[in-house]
Amino acid sequence: MLIGMIVLDGSQGEGGGQILRTALALALVTGKPFRMEKIRARRAKPGLQRQHLTAVLAAAEVGAATLEGASLGSQHLVFQPHEIRPGNYRFAIGSAGSATLVLQTVLPALWSAAADSQLELEGGTHNPLAPPLDFLQRVFLPLVERMGPRIVARLERYGFYPAGGGRATVTVHPQPLRPIELLDRGEVVYRQVRVLLARLPRSIGQREAAAVCRGLGWPEEAATIEEVDSAGPGNAVLVEIGCQHATEVFSAFGQRGVRAEAVADDVVRQARRWLDADVPVGEHLADQLLLPFALAGGGRFRTLNPSSHFETNRHTIAQFLDHVAIDTEPQGADAYLVSVRPR
Ligand code: AMP
Repeated sequence: MLIGMIVLDGSQGEGGGQILRTALALALVTGKPFRMEKIRARRAKPGLQRQHLTAVLAAAEVGAATLEGASLGSQHLVFQPHEIRPGNYRFAIGSAGSATLVLQTVLPALWSAAADSQLELEGGTHNPLAPPLDFLQRVFLPLVERMGPRIVARLERYGFYPAGGGRATVTVHPQPLRPIELLDRGEVVYRQVRVLLARLPRSIGQREAAAVCRGLGWPEEAATIEEVDSAGPGNAVLVEIGCQHATEVFSAFGQRGVRAEAVADDVVRQARRWLDADVPVGEHLADQLLLPFALAGGGRFRTLNPSSHFETNRHTIAQFLDHVAIDTEPQGADAYLVSVRPR
């Protein structure tokens, strides 16, 4: 085994693809190799599935990495990066995978690289259990930009689970990260509901729009229904709330056998929780922000009670970045202060 190799148990904590993607991202940025065992060991289909493998191969390309165990179903991976190579990349994720999760794996390396990069991603742009591209465009990337690097993501074609076939292009202009604070969101400035429909009856969108507006107590004019082009059927409901100092996007996805009203309830519950807690950073944003904050070596944000994804990222970051500490402090029933500081 290589000296200095970080050893990770992939079944720990949340135990899904996230521990793998975070490890890949951090290995690239720090240049530290890692070995992961028991990858997704407790999942119904354990080991590397196609979208995880795509993330591994994308990270290997960007980091000129040496690999061991990078095959479908493998529960073991050795990843040893050599150098970050900015440039032009095209990553085809395959039909069911999320393009945004692969993007997040390679972004920290590319935003800290010596030159600009252009990426072309093909696959799912709006998948369940992953950030929709709109979330990256409206929420995550603007915050990274506040910290320094400028990243512009453009949607070229929608891709929904399971058909995929979506396309996005991304340009990355690196800059050093500087710490920021996200403590108060300020007053709500705008709010909107967007229902996306591909190859499905408009009535589904109308029921979702009505149910979301009713659930949030918003006027029906807050909602728009967009019939979009995609390779297969798809339906997403996006709730965007813009405040003076923070923006959040909550999302839920239509699925065969799930009623439109249930999809609406899901997104209403997420938006309500965030509105009630009066914090700037929502559940998903919190686990994703930990990485740039830790790489910046400082900063603070207020968020909801930490999720298992948050704790898993915190744990993985501690393995790679021993010079930063991440502290959490409860601040009420469903609010936490997260502080990142040099150790
Ligand atoms: P995993 O479940 O391990 O594949 O990780 C999923 C990642 O996607 C986590 O970083 C989640 O925070 C993020 N995620 C899942 N659903 C959403 C959503 N609706 N909006 C934004 N991010 C999401």
